[in-house]
Amino acid sequence: MNIVLFGPPGAGKGTQAAILVEQHNIVQLSTGDMLRAAVAAGTELGKQAKSVMDAGQLVADDLIIGIISDRIDEPDCKNGFILDGFPRTVAQAEGLDVMLEEKGLKLDSTIEIVVDEQILFSRIEQRASETPEEERRADDNAETLKKRLAVYHEQTAPVLPYYEAKGNLHKVDGMQSIEEVASQIANFLK
Ligand code: AMP
Repeated sequence: MNIVLFGPPGAGKGTQAAILVEQHNIVQLSTGDMLRAAVAAGTELGKQAKSVMDAGQLVADDLIIGIISDRIDEPDCKNGFILDGFPRTVAQAEGLDVMLEEKGLKLDSTIEIVVDEQILFSRIEQRASETPEEERRADDNAETLKKRLAVYHEQTAPVLPYYEAKGNLHKVDGMQSIEEVASQIANFLK
């Protein structure tokens, strides 16, 4: 089963992806996690991505599409995957379609987690305060969140009509409890 999870920063994509991993024995592919790992490892990609991420902007589409394409080819993706934080632009969505077709794969479901903007600020603050300083994300602060949300509205929100037009976008109210959100997502996937 191949799924895309959409939602602004702090919507709970990572939390729901972790639940889906358990339920369906599939893997979570978070482009944000992959980029943070590259930054931590000091790779060429990490060096290119760091300042862009710290500014709350998006890393170049072709770089991201290449990373995801290589990752999907790994054996652990055989059973399926959850895309978390990708695609984030219409160009990435189009790139994903081409890539999946070339690989003989398809998306089974695209899910949008809808959350009120005020709640996102308190969630991000909470995530930052609960995480030890050395593990805290450099972009988890109110100032960068504002930029990340602006980028979400400008560049990622237009991806939603792209999937709506294909008729397989499900919306879930992300302001419910983690369990309720998970149960609604499970219903979509039945
Ligand atoms: P995330 O953990 O998904 O919030 O991603 C953290 C940061 O990584 C984003 O603010 C972007 O700078 C970068 N990033 C993650 N995924 C993508 C993507 N699909 N396209 C471009 N940049 C991305």
